[in-house]
Amino acid sequence: MSRLLKDKVVLITGASSGFGALAAHLFAREGAKVVLAARRLDRLQKLVDEIQDAGGEALAVPVDVANHAEIDLMVDTTLDIYGRIDILFNNAGFGRLDWLENLDNGRDIQTQVNVNLTGLMQVTRAVLPHMLKEGIGHIINMSSVAGWTAPPLYSVYSATKFGVRGFTNALRREVRHLGIDVSAVYPGAAATEFGQHTGDDSVKKKFSTPAWLRMTPEFVAEKVVRLAKYPRRTLILPWWFTIVIWLDNHFPAISDFFQIQFSKKYHQ
Ligand code: NDP
Repeated sequence: MSRLLKDKVVLITGASSGFGALAAHLFAREGAKVVLAARRLDRLQKLVDEIQDAGGEALAVPVDVANHAEIDLMVDTTLDIYGRIDILFNNAGFGRLDWLENLDNGRDIQTQVNVNLTGLMQVTRAVLPHMLKEGIGHIINMSSVAGWTAPPLYSVYSATKFGVRGFTNALRREVRHLGIDVSAVYPGAAATEFGQHTGDDSVKKKFSTPAWLRMTPEFVAEKVVRLAKYPRRTLILPWWFTIVIWLDNHFPAISDFFQIQFSKKYHQ
């Protein structure tokens, strides 16, 4: 059955661009009160203005999800103003895509894990007790197709997104009977600012997904809002990646063969 989003309080991390920003617009259009969190406050404030101009309700809260104290402040601010959090869209993240030996230990490995995985877990840990108190809530975690299949160049990114999948599945099994839904979204490539943060240009040019295969971020955001209306455990986008994932999981030797050819060609 469809859930009404009107007057729901929706906290979105990574709301300053891409999927998060577009989902914020769509949730607000459904009558939800959206709390927009990310590091770039100027972007968030602009989004708040746009949503309010369109008759919606929104609040900007700065957060670096790699910073525990900032997470607590984000959650406390939301609760002070709205009293509850009905939906958490754990969307903040980035990917540094390169051969492992080219990734630096700081931003490329440690920070990527801190933001994509540890940060997501800590935001959830901060929000969950309040949902449990209300006996209702929906946590939507942003993973990736790279949370099911791990191609060359994606070692650390895939590790974080596989981690999000494991976390999501275990948490759903812990809290479903207490009224909390826990879902994960697994998109393939989409045209957002994600590609601006993946690292070295020469690598990106060789390996980036062709434009005709990329989803629009609007499509992904619409599916996320639909997921909030019709909760389900897993949303793979576009649907045909389900087949790719199935093949990768059932025929890993074939998958290895092709991907190792790829590495042989480019990893000198
Ligand atoms: P964008 O780069 O457009 O958005 C990323 C968002 O994450 C921004 O709002 C950014 O805000 C925020 N963010 C990054 N680091 C932090 C941090 N330390 N603390 C708080 N917020 C942070 O890319 P997308 O919209 O594509 O990415 C959204 C999610 O979707 C990510 O988790 C990504 O891994 C995932 N994804 C993306 C795919 C794609 O092809 N685009 C495919 C599959 C999954 P700010 O810089 O202001 O902090």
